[in-house]
Amino acid sequence: MSTIPSITLNNGLAMPQLGFGVWQVADDEAATAVRTAIESGYRSIDTAAVYENEVGTGRGIREAGVPREELFLTTKLWNSGTKDWSGTSGRDAVLREFDASLERLGTDYVDLYLIHWPRPMHGSYGNIWQAFEELAADGRAKAVGVSNFGPAELGHLLGAGSLVPAVNQVELHPYFPQQELRAFHAEHGVATEAWSPLGQGKELLGEPALAKVAAKHGRTPAQVVLRWHLQSGVIAIPKSVTPSRIRENFEVTGFELDAEDMAAVASVATGRRIGPDPTGFDWN
Ligand code: NAD
Repeated sequence: MSTIPSITLNNGLAMPQLGFGVWQVADDEAATAVRTAIESGYRSIDTAAVYENEVGTGRGIREAGVPREELFLTTKLWNSGTKDWSGTSGRDAVLREFDASLERLGTDYVDLYLIHWPRPMHGSYGNIWQAFEELAADGRAKAVGVSNFGPAELGHLLGAGSLVPAVNQVELHPYFPQQELRAFHAEHGVATEAWSPLGQGKELLGEPALAKVAAKHGRTPAQVVLRWHLQSGVIAIPKSVTPSRIRENFEVTGFELDAEDMAAVASVATGRRIGPDPTGFDWN
């Protein structure tokens, strides 16, 4: 079984560089998918309140029988819980939403709690981030971070004395490699986590450039893309509900892409997103 490397987050916590994502997995399928992933060797699971599968995810974790402390569990705060992002009610709403996630997951802590989406038109994150800092301080969230933030949004949190987010989880795959944002993260000690790391498995995995690298190593295009993430220092959380693919996506050690291979993967970049541009989105 693969030994997946870890990234050390800015608070010293080790996070596996490969995890299992469960977006668009129905709650009643999530337990089986998560259990299959853990049995295949994954130790990091990525869910969110808005995926409406925290109950199934928690059940899958328990059914797999691996001690909770050997797992790295991420969930995310959805925006609709915090109508007033800047007032004191924002802080209370975050803590309520967090408790509800723990309850659904059936655990008493998460390893990583993220603000799922920014709200660029609603100003600072004062009391929201204060609640995240409280959760980090009391250990109910071992690390806290954000998702879909750009440099301007991160700037709201990088003020004097505020806890620096441990992670920013963003759309990132060979079509959309986010080089500038990654450089910004590196400058500020924020780890980069890739969502849709396989580009949602559509055209990307059929790219001839990837097929060539895959054939050279006797691997699949998905394994090559995930290997590219690992060697780029990025955390990746591919999703599948197909057991053979869940296993395939975990077998990404035991081979190394050389500089030419890395360049071949990077050559497919188009600069186009699959998902929405977070800077123009108001989720309420
Ligand atoms: P992904 O890039 O992981 O692609 C998943 C799809 O690719 C699968 O549904 C399947 O169709 C295909 N696939 C998977 N393995 C394959 C293989 N080995 N060969 C061929 N096809 C394969 O896309 P995703 O699910 O969008 O992203 C992964 C995870 O990222 C999500 O489950 C979720 O946890 C997270 N995510 C977060 C956000 C956010 O806003 N923070 C947004 C989207 C996704």
